[in-house]
Amino acid sequence: MSKQAIVTGGTRGIGKAIAVCLKEAGFNVAATYGGNDEAATRFKEETGIGVYKWDVSDAAACEEGVATIEADQGPTDVLVNNAGITRDGAFHKMTAEQWRAVMSTNLDSAFYMTRPVINGMRERGYGRIINISSINGQKGQFGQANYSAAKAGLIGFTRALAHETARKGITVNAIAPGYIGTDMVAAMDEKVLDAIVGQIPVGRLGTPEEVADAVLYLAGDKAGFMTGAVLTINGGQYIAA
Ligand code: NDP
Repeated sequence: MSKQAIVTGGTRGIGKAIAVCLKEAGFNVAATYGGNDEAATRFKEETGIGVYKWDVSDAAACEEGVATIEADQGPTDVLVNNAGITRDGAFHKMTAEQWRAVMSTNLDSAFYMTRPVINGMRERGYGRIINISSINGQKGQFGQANYSAAKAGLIGFTRALAHETARKGITVNAIAPGYIGTDMVAAMDEKVLDAIVGQIPVGRLGTPEEVADAVLYLAGDKAGFMTGAVLTINGGQYIAA
């Protein structure tokens, strides 16, 4: 029987590649998004994957959203916490709004999304939770005190929850992508991006599909012995312990 997957921020960029990859591998997939109806409609027409709109930084909306998806497609086996934003700025100019927006969308959301699915996974003795962190949560990045903190927080969350759930057949892993060619990266200053690509030993940006393939592995039955891990997919830009 098909397994049920939810991918937050699944209508564009990395999330879209993940949703498509899981669907092609036989999962029933629901893709959530925050506000870009045009991209979501295009995605739905292109892929046939169901789309659901709510703000992942809103706890009640996440609870309600998960309940709606589960009513449509059944209990969740795989949750990919992928939705994320950047609100960059040098720390001495960073506002509390920039800090809060990034923390709530990138980190609080993982709590808000995982909490409604975890009891069902525990009862059924099976689950796969995959958190999309970032190279900048591992090494820190100029102008991203908020984003680096949130993405590092996701790694701590991954490791703690992996301890708690291992005996229940639930694995919890993180992926830390380097620079991947999506809208998020396209929004960067061209000169800054050129300089970053110059620091990537592989000599190019990664593709969303390269991240999706790793998610597919972690989402599968064969990855049952892998939990609490952080997979780096960054072209060699940062080789962490
Ligand atoms: P994109 O900006 O291309 O897509 C982001 C997705 O998240 C969209 O579907 C968007 O919905 C959704 N989203 C954003 N905010 C919210 C919200 N408040 N509520 C619900 N959905 C929301 O991002 P990427 O594909 O580049 O990034 C995906 C993840 O990977 C992020 O967590 C990012 O931090 C991480 N990452 C990205 C890297 C990169 O180089 N691109 C590198 C390392 C990590 P909508 O379309 O409605 O706006």
